[in-house]
Formats: sequence, C-alpha cells, structure tokens
Amino acid sequence: MMIVMKEGATQEQIDHVVERIEEVGCSAHISKGELLTVIGAIGDRDRVAALGLEAAPGVDHIVPILKPYKLASTQFRKGQRTVVEVGDAKVGGDYFALIAGPCTVESRDQTLTVARTVADAGADMLRGGAYKPRTSPYSFQGLGVEGLRLLQEAKEETGLPVVTEVMDARDIENVVEVADVIQVGARNMQNYTLLSELGRTGLPILLKRGLSATLEELLMASEYILKEGNDKVMLCERGIRTFETAYRFTLDLLAVPTLRELTHLPIVVDPSHAAGRRDLVKPMSLAAAAAGADGIIVEVHNDPEKAICDGPQALPTDTFNEYAEHVFRVAEVAGKRTSRGVEA
Ligand code: PEP
Ligand code: MN
Repeated sequence: MMIVMKEGATQEQIDHVVERIEEVGCSAHISKGELLTVIGAIGDRDRVAALGLEAAPGVDHIVPILKPYKLASTQFRKGQRTVVEVGDAKVGGDYFALIAGPCTVESRDQTLTVARTVADAGADMLRGGAYKPRTSPYSFQGLGVEGLRLLQEAKEETGLPVVTEVMDARDIENVVEVADVIQVGARNMQNYTLLSELGRTGLPILLKRGLSATLEELLMASEYILKEGNDKVMLCERGIRTFETAYRFTLDLLAVPTLRELTHLPIVVDPSHAAGRRDLVKPMSLAAAAAGADGIIVEVHNDPEKAICDGPQALPTDTFNEYAEHVFRVAEVAGKRTSRGVEA
C-alpha cells in the first residue's frame, strides 16, 4: 500500500502514519518528493487496510500496489524513473551508460590496458571481476584482494568508477573499499541474505537476472536490496536458459520494454554472457540500445585468445572504439543522453 500525504503534511503527521503502520508489525518506507511525501507500507496488506489510514490527519489518499514487489514497482515512484548516479555517470531515465572491461582481472598489464582503451572510447564505468563465479571449482576463481588492488589502480589512472562482483558476504568489507557499483551475479540473484547485506552497504548494486528467473523473481530479488533503504539498484538482463544451444544463453530483449513498464529501476543489458561469442555481441548491443536499455555491460580483452575466462565472447581492444561509437549512436536514436553527446 502506498499512503500519499497531502501537500504540506507535517512531520508529526508523517510520523503518526509510520507509527500506526509499525504497530501492526509492518514496515514503512518514506519517500519525500519536492511537494509530496509518499509512505510505502510493506507487510500484510489486510492489516494495513484495517488501520483506516485514509482518515488519518495529513493523508490525501491510499493507492494499493497489487504487485508482489512494492518498492520496485512503477506505481511506487508514481511513474518517475530512478536515475542511479555513479561518479560522473548516470544510468536510467534519459541517461545511458556503457560499462566495459575484462571478465576477470588477470594481471596489471591486462587490467590497465583494457581500462585505458575503454576510457578513451568514452565508456562510463570499468567492469572486472576479482571474485569469479565459475561453474567448475577447478577453474580460476579470481585474484581476490590482489584483483581489487589492480582495479583501484585502474580507477585512479582512468577516473572510471569500478563495477565488480561480490559472491560472499565475507568479502563485502574489502570490496566496498574499491567498488563504486557491486555486481550480483546471475547465480546469486536469489541469495537473499547476500542481497540484504548489500542493500545495507548503500552502494549502487547491479543485480543480474538469474539463469532461469522470471522478471517477477528478478523484481522480488531487487526488493531485498530496496527494503534496506538502498534505492540505487540497476537490473541486468544477461540471457536466460532456453532449449536453444546455438549460443550460450538467449538474450531476452523483451525484458527491456517489459521491465520499463513494471519498474522505475534502470535496466542494463549484458550481451556478452548471453551470446558467448564475440560476433554476436555487437548486433545484440545495438538491439539492446534500440530497445531502450539504460546501459550496456560488455566484456573487453587486450588478448582474447589468451583470456583466462570468457575469451570467446570478449571484444578485442582494437575494435572497441568503433563499437562504443555505434552503441552510443543507437542509444541516442532511442532518445538517451550519452557521454559522447549527440554532436560527438
Ligand atoms: C560476469 O559478469 O562476469 C558474470 C559471471 O556474469 P553472470 O553472473 O551474468 O554469468
Ligand atoms: Mn564473464
């Protein structure tokens, strides 16, 4: 339920509504706009309805949110889109951001070379994993703290904010020292205790869609982060499991306009992990930008043949500038502002 307060409602009236909601074991999420304050009541709907808050002083009206996700729903923000700001970059609303970098941090030379390339091409953020979710426990698992140190160095040199994954809550302490955005990998989308912990960091979170998760399940997962008071959540479509085996996963681009209808949160697309093949990455990137994605996260490597992981899908550094230019152009055609600007 969403309790919309009257214009000019007093703090006392707001506190009173919050108290009543909490009295019945529900929680209240306050969202203060320029003119109006909206209080989201989270918990048992019937109990909140029974409070008769329509009649409480300062309350204008009540909007029931029928979806199981509340804070993520379009209704919760009254149609206003969330823009997540990360350093100079903005994602969501009118803003499009390109996030690029290696799958995993391998070495100083590789990380800095890729970081310089993507920065020069106008990318808005650098991606790179220090903790890698690998299918096989015998595969390279990431450089850990040493990887974080290399990302820090790349950030200091290029000025690009860093997006990196956390798989285990025990690593959060180290990761928050470096990360500007914390990635939740597809395999952890339903790790609810991790999501709650990450919500409490207050850092922007890039939440990837699980391999077989519905959009509703993705939105419910985002709710775990939002309910901690962290509204800097970006959703990421990265391909889902289907019967098709010609490529790694099926990129569900219908998710982009569909999520836009269901949620105010920014929607990012990862064409690299969906495709698994570099020749498919550019066409899918352009399609994602055309579909209205708020951002793209893509893998780039200076020597893809020798990459420790995901080499076949990595864009080589020497092709990245043209790739970025084309992606930005399509995003602009779709009505977005990009770091290159329309005239660039
Ligand atoms: C990644 O971004 O490197 C990654 C492992 O992605 P996903 O969780 O989508 O497989
Ligand atoms: Mn990867």
